[in-house]
Amino acid sequence: MAKYNGSKCRMCRREGSKLFLKGDRCYTDKCAFDRRPYAPGAAGRARKKVSDYALQLREKQKVRRMYGVLEKQFRGYFEKADMQKGVTGFNLLALLERRLDNVVYRLGFANSRQQARQMVRHGVFSLNNHKANIPSMQVKVGDVLVVNEKHRKNPVLAEAQDVTARRGCPTWLEVDGPNFTGTVKALPQREDIQFPINEQLIVELYSK
Ligand code: SF4
Repeated sequence: MAKYNGSKCRMCRREGSKLFLKGDRCYTDKCAFDRRPYAPGAAGRARKKVSDYALQLREKQKVRRMYGVLEKQFRGYFEKADMQKGVTGFNLLALLERRLDNVVYRLGFANSRQQARQMVRHGVFSLNNHKANIPSMQVKVGDVLVVNEKHRKNPVLAEAQDVTARRGCPTWLEVDGPNFTGTVKALPQREDIQFPINEQLIVELYSK
């Protein structure tokens, strides 16, 4: 599987937006994007005329990188979103939000989506009393996520919960920190996704 092993901060600078890929660091003055908010490379500061296609492509890359999804899988989400009732762009974001690794991150059990994915794969969580080690699993209303007993002393959890207290937990989820439990109270709504995304650009890109 193709995997990007380069600098995460470089991705933020390339996409012209903070993607919050490095946990706590993203909220401090060490954030590379805050310090150098222009594209990497020698021509990074040059003013360029941007085509509609480039805008659409960058928006898609931004969202794909933010959720840590590969191209093929991302397109699969789009096709699924397109077949669902309602607005395709929002359906796409809702499918990404409902991924188990994203839910772990949003609940504050991990510092970043990448860390959440790793923890899920290592069997740190159970979903509705069953093993949950597939990061792309979709959660549904009423699902209960629990940190397995033997992983509760992991210092990453305490650190992540600290950071989440600052970044906040979305209203469609409920976290019970002392009991290491998270509940899916509702499906995510558009206003729950605060990050600046123009999902219509992605729809236009894939509809060509
Ligand atoms: Fe992006 Fe800043 Fe986080 Fe680096 S520290 S990943 S530039 S948001």
